[in-house]
Amino acid sequence: MLKYKLNGSIEPAQFGDLLPILSNRLPFLILDCDGTLVPICETLEEAVLHPSQLNLLNDVGRHLVGRVAIVSARGLSRLTHEFDPQVFTLAGNYGLEISYPSGQKFVHPKAVHARLLMIELAAEMAQLILNLPSLILDNHGYSLCLHFHRLPDDRLSDLHTFIHQLELGYSTLEFRRLNTSYEVVPSVNWDKSSALDHIATHLSLEVEDPLYIAFGDSEMDEPMFSWVNRRQGLSFSVGCRDSTAALGLMESPDDVFKFLDNLLVLHRPVN
Ligand SMILES: [Mg+2]
Repeated sequence: MLKYKLNGSIEPAQFGDLLPILSNRLPFLILDCDGTLVPICETLEEAVLHPSQLNLLNDVGRHLVGRVAIVSARGLSRLTHEFDPQVFTLAGNYGLEISYPSGQKFVHPKAVHARLLMIELAAEMAQLILNLPSLILDNHGYSLCLHFHRLPDDRLSDLHTFIHQLELGYSTLEFRRLNTSYEVVPSVNWDKSSALDHIATHLSLEVEDPLYIAFGDSEMDEPMFSWVNRRQGLSFSVGCRDSTAALGLMESPDDVFKFLDNLLVLHRPVN
């Protein structure tokens, strides 16, 4: 189900309803990964695209040459493992590290500076997991995510105390308490809108004024939606979040792929 804010209110819509907007400018797609292209899974190993979805995404990437970016919390190495770095602009760790189809790469200097601390902290968290094996650590290189959704309730206070001690010892890193995880990132004033600033500048996008189309599912995607809205683009929140700056709503990643399929038909050359 697709809904979009047309004529002042968000209503059920069809892809065709957006054609007047889609037909005016060349699109530049911005896609979050987890929760947007793949459903949220217990582990990152389970969160992979179905081969037919990956084929569709690759087709879209090849037809919109250089005009698809995947901006994710995942590390760049994991993104390049799943998505072709010669086709897509890949922004890992919210864009603290970016690879472009040209082969050029960007890593934020403060992320580089924090790398050794991240390695030390990951080792300490690995020790913690020996005592609390239901914890799951996703090591994204320039950020860490410690998931505690499987941890028994009676061990939660032990975890929070331990993390608080770590926070005191690693005061130059930023610890974020999320619903069922702790995320640790370099202390940099940076979000997905910063990543989009870098991408737009690097690819000289602002000169041509493309139609930015963004898809995301979480709070961390809100700066991206606002960035796209300021440029009169299309923004879609995937899932069932109550409050979002996105102008459009989609129920699930399946809706994202339906949209991409329609977009491909629109832009595929007629034989
Ligand atoms: Mg997400």
